[in-house]
Amino acid sequence: MHSNLIDGIWRNSQTALRNENPSDLDDVVGEYASGSPDDMREAVAAARAAFPAWSRTTPQQRSDILDTAGSEILARRQVLGTLLAREEGKTLPEAIGEVTRAGQIFKFFAGEALRMQGELMDSVRPGVEVLVSREAVGVVGLITPWNFPIAIPAWKTAPALAFGNTVVLKPAELVPGSAWALADILQRAGLPAGVFNLVMGSGHVLGPAMLDAGIDALSFTGSQRTGQSLAKACAVRGIKVQLEMGGKNPLVVADDADLEQAVECALNGAFYATGQRCTASSRLIVCNSIHDAFVTRLAERTAALRVGHALAVESQIGPVASEAQLANNLSHVAGGQAEGARLVYGGEHLKRTTRGYYQAPALFADCTPDMRLCREEIFGPVAAVLRAESYEHALALANDTPYGLAAGLCTRSLARATHFRRHAEAGMVMVNLPTAGVDYHVPFGGRKTSSHGPREQGRYAIEFYTTVKTAYLGS
Ligand code: ADP
Repeated sequence: MHSNLIDGIWRNSQTALRNENPSDLDDVVGEYASGSPDDMREAVAAARAAFPAWSRTTPQQRSDILDTAGSEILARRQVLGTLLAREEGKTLPEAIGEVTRAGQIFKFFAGEALRMQGELMDSVRPGVEVLVSREAVGVVGLITPWNFPIAIPAWKTAPALAFGNTVVLKPAELVPGSAWALADILQRAGLPAGVFNLVMGSGHVLGPAMLDAGIDALSFTGSQRTGQSLAKACAVRGIKVQLEMGGKNPLVVADDADLEQAVECALNGAFYATGQRCTASSRLIVCNSIHDAFVTRLAERTAALRVGHALAVESQIGPVASEAQLANNLSHVAGGQAEGARLVYGGEHLKRTTRGYYQAPALFADCTPDMRLCREEIFGPVAAVLRAESYEHALALANDTPYGLAAGLCTRSLARATHFRRHAEAGMVMVNLPTAGVDYHVPFGGRKTSSHGPREQGRYAIEFYTTVKTAYLGS
């Protein structure tokens, strides 16, 4: 059994999580500890005990450890990518890309550890100076989802450690393997006992235990329902909270778009990584004059996508990550047809030589904004095309959602690109690019119900992982 890491010691648990390969249900990736509330309490206590010393380490000490971890992740990207593809189901190139990103994130925050800054100002009162500085928040709980098994733990853990916090990570039940590998790497990179703790297991059991054990801050990525309930629980306990909760991201195709480029953006944004990205383009909003040509071409390209085993070289789309997610996708496909949307291509469960959760990407047309297909996050390879009368109509449709993570536009007009950048109600805007696929050195996050709290990643990550102190210094 792969154990939990608590206070620098690998600890087994009474029960185990069976990590299955969604490409091949006969392949068991491994057995992983499933922690108890007591394990979580001990992990938080260990992080609490380790905090005073860790928060007083020099930036150089923290930077060196993060840099060592980043180097090992990058050096082992092939092995770690294979593990990730086996447990999550994204294709091997996608998985290696994600591992590479995780390594780069550690390298980036190794630099950021050296750049914590403050401000010194004259007071408005004579003889007084004001010093504004940042300090670590304390013990940070991290709860992560299954769709990016190493990148999301990395983009929360690296800034937390860089700025002097201690960490308890609770990864998603479906994908403990990559988080375990990350814990192993961090441990060997030289982190003192208790600075980083890993408690794998059920969110329903470990989430409440984590909050009750007395963390100072919680960073969560996952579903809206879980995120909103955690936010309430954090509010009453005075826990600083940051939430990322998905999207219903629009890609607008203006009538002056380059057709092939727009189709490429839609194909990538809607279906790559099996549509399991919170930045996926699940609503394709297409202006009238280009609409029919776009749908025809996108259907051809979708039909040509090769869905198969995540580790097979010819596969372009891996399986859906779990049985529950596949059932959810298929019910949305059936629901879309019942609501009157036209299924142009796909949507069915596919058989392959191995038993797995394979699904043909589903493309719907003739959708209306009130349909569930256009309102609810599906988190699978299901895309809905909406017809727009004009660019202005398309923009209104794009913003007609409670979510606000990413929004894309395909156009050849600079004026429209500028207008869209200013008026899209989203945290991230992509012009002539897929809505999914973001850089690791710039802020990530959304508006409306997609996100809550400060942005993640890049220089902006410091907002969440530090707290500001204003000191008045008299003479
Ligand atoms: P998904 O539908 O993508 O699995 P969830 O929000 O259920 O989204 O899961 C995201 C993460 O939240 C996972 O690590 C999961 O274990 C955890 N989780 C689920 N329920 C709770 C809960 N009640 N409290 C804390 N964490 C939870």
